[in-house]
Amino acid sequence: MLNSVEDCCIQQENEILALEAIYPQDFTYTENKENPSRYEGSLTIQISLPHEIMICFIDDKNLISDLPLKVRHLPPVKLIFSMPSNYPMEDCLQFELECYWMQRDWIRRLEKRLLKIWEEERDVILFRFAEFLQNNALDYLQVSYPLRIYDDNVGQTTLKALLSTYDQQAKNQDFVNDHFTCGICLEEKHGDKCYRLDSCQHVFCQVCLREYFMMLIQEGFVIQVKCPDPGCKSPNKLAKEEITEIVGHEMSQRYTELLEKQKLETDPLVTYCPRKICQAPVKKESAIERLCVCTKCTFAFCWFCQRTWHGANVPCAINNIKKIVQEYLAADEATKSTLELRYGTKNIEKLVRDTLEEMETDKWIKSNAQKCPQCETAIEKSMGCNHMLCTRCKTHFCYLCGSWIDPEEPYNHFNASNSSCNQRLFDGVNVDEFVADEFIFV
Ligand SMILES: [Zn+2]
Ligand SMILES: [Zn+2]
Ligand SMILES: [Zn+2]
Ligand SMILES: [Zn+2]
Ligand SMILES: [Zn+2]
Ligand SMILES: [Zn+2]
Repeated sequence: MLNSVEDCCIQQENEILALEAIYPQDFTYTENKENPSRYEGSLTIQISLPHEIMICFIDDKNLISDLPLKVRHLPPVKLIFSMPSNYPMEDCLQFELECYWMQRDWIRRLEKRLLKIWEEERDVILFRFAEFLQNNALDYLQVSYPLRIYDDNVGQTTLKALLSTYDQQAKNQDFVNDHFTCGICLEEKHGDKCYRLDSCQHVFCQVCLREYFMMLIQEGFVIQVKCPDPGCKSPNKLAKEEITEIVGHEMSQRYTELLEKQKLETDPLVTYCPRKICQAPVKKESAIERLCVCTKCTFAFCWFCQRTWHGANVPCAINNIKKIVQEYLAADEATKSTLELRYGTKNIEKLVRDTLEEMETDKWIKSNAQKCPQCETAIEKSMGCNHMLCTRCKTHFCYLCGSWIDPEEPYNHFNASNSSCNQRLFDGVNVDEFVADEFIFV
């Protein structure tokens, strides 16, 4: 008996040394020679999962209480033990399992199974226990997936939050210990020198990603600040926290400012104060509104013609309107709807109608009439020679070139060799219809 106790003692010492070497971080023990159990301690055991698993959470009414969670890692099981003096030759290790996410019944079944293993082997058993828990526990329990876990919501933090946090930390640890080929410099880097983008999971080395994003922000290409992988399908912009993490606080601030500025620039309801010294962005409430008041300098101006506010009943200066209409008529559907948003659909339709009408008139005048150089009245020539007399202000002018003609010597214009209308008094006149130079002799 004495011999067997001494033997046990040696075997225990060896087992403790071996476990310390195998699990330097997960194994702890205390030694007390006065105790009936000389060694007491605990071993933390990671449960391997074959792949990512789904977990659904069941409440006390046996109903699914939350959205399922996908994890790659589950929190470990803790084996707490003490070694009786006759372990391992006579007695089994005294032990119990602790695992906060497992239901009581699972733990009891696992403990029973471990006891059975010892009974079969009657040897130092901690390593066997660890191996079993790590590789076979879930199979032994015959769990099915999604894994059903009871969450009684007793603690302040839900079980789901705990599992999710644990999984995230474990994944980060996996990442740091791994190696990756940076998509920018194409070099293989250790995980702790790399960064994985949240939305698409693409990995780049921290230095490359930082330099790339810094360059984009410095040059104002903030829209391009996204995953640099050319094949990346993720449409998501990076979260602000992510950008801060990569380029630092100051650059991230600059990024946000530029992004906001660009957003204003593409907002159809935003224009800029036309005063050169101000140029603050001005947003109007609705598309049909024409009056804008700069919030910075209080300058009131017209949205359409960008001049000082001229009152709702006074039409705008025409030049700007023509520009808007031309832009609208030449635009594709997308730009058209942006312009409609910007100026109001009704407004822009009216502008187009009015402008087209006006352009038609201009065209008609160009082919059928000539404007008086004095009063700009369009004078139609029905027949007769090209010497015209304005019916309104009695100015003499040339139908061909529109220039003023001296009433004293009206035909000099058609007889001077240096005139572009030399010998063209009857140009374009249908001779059969010719009756008289009525504009002169009526
Ligand atoms: Zn790189
Ligand atoms: Zn990507
Ligand atoms: Zn202003
Ligand atoms: Zn105006
Ligand atoms: Zn006239
Ligand atoms: Zn002429």
